[in-house]
Amino acid sequence: MTRAWSEVEFAQKVIAYYHQSGRKDLPWQNTQDPYRIWLSEIMLQQTQVKTVIPYYQKFLQAFPSVLDLANAEQDQVLHLWSGLGYYSRARNLHKAAKMIRDEFAGQFPENQAELESLPGIGRSTAGAIAAFAFNKPSAILDGNVKRVLARCFAIEGWYGQTTVLNQLWELSEKLTPNQETAGYNQAMMDLGALVCKRSKPLCQECPLTAHCLAFQQDRVSELPHKKPKKARPAKSVYWLIYLDKQRILLQKRPPSGIWGGLWSLPEVERTEAVKQNYSSARRLPEILHKFSHYDLHITPLLMNKTIEKTMQQEPNMSIMEADSSDWYSLTEPLEELAIGLPTPVTNLLKQLKQTLE
Ligand code: SF4
Repeated sequence: MTRAWSEVEFAQKVIAYYHQSGRKDLPWQNTQDPYRIWLSEIMLQQTQVKTVIPYYQKFLQAFPSVLDLANAEQDQVLHLWSGLGYYSRARNLHKAAKMIRDEFAGQFPENQAELESLPGIGRSTAGAIAAFAFNKPSAILDGNVKRVLARCFAIEGWYGQTTVLNQLWELSEKLTPNQETAGYNQAMMDLGALVCKRSKPLCQECPLTAHCLAFQQDRVSELPHKKPKKARPAKSVYWLIYLDKQRILLQKRPPSGIWGGLWSLPEVERTEAVKQNYSSARRLPEILHKFSHYDLHITPLLMNKTIEKTMQQEPNMSIMEADSSDWYSLTEPLEELAIGLPTPVTNLLKQLKQTLE
């Protein structure tokens, strides 16, 4: 039999779990420095803890304070983010650091509304910073917390829908205790990440089974409801490889859009109309890169024309910023290129280096 929850009881169970099994030694814990907490919250969005740790440490070494980050060049910031994906997170982090320097006199704001006014900080991230750094009783609702609540309270519907999201926020606000908020929030994230996992949740290890509606009603694999399926859109591009004396031409992408501000190969959309222009170039094996919302099919082409000649024939190359291109020597170690590179570009450059060796 399922007993109805009391808010206090729920919070007590979660906090007890925190004291017993919660994670307490992650590199961003045991600090109340809002900069460090903010950085970890942003890096952890859509990314697992074990992937984040080395990036977090390198980033802090390069930019130990929010002012160091604000004063850095964007290329440097994106370089340290290369491989972590979702690069708008890095661009927003950099923008927000500048705002903290210029509009908040270098002091991290403490209240929820001011935190949410910073680029890249939504309601849940603001709640986490307020709770972890400033001991405020703020609620959070990241992906892990959503899943735990959706299962415990058998919330119907997909949480991309506003009504479902509002319901979850209401629950999270109601359940978050005024005391030990940081421990409670940490435990909710840990429960979602380690116990109430997306697939194969470990219900036998969960402190919430006695009340969890999904568990009691045998609906754990059904909840939370999945996003309704749509066909995934796809886009096809050519990446043009210009080699000259073991140097390769790279171009900086426009500041917004996918991989904004990162360095890539000159890119042209692969349409029927332009195929003919590239028929004499040597095709390398296609690369499939999956973004969250579409698939990108990349065909690298080893060019046998000069860049100037191609630009005359291919006006679409203006996808790139024309004044931001440079030749990079393939004999130099890639790590020494202090610029941001998308993962498929890094992999392709490694392959090309190997073929030239
Ligand atoms: S009992 Fe199972 S489904 Fe319910 S919260 Fe715990 S792990 Fe998740």
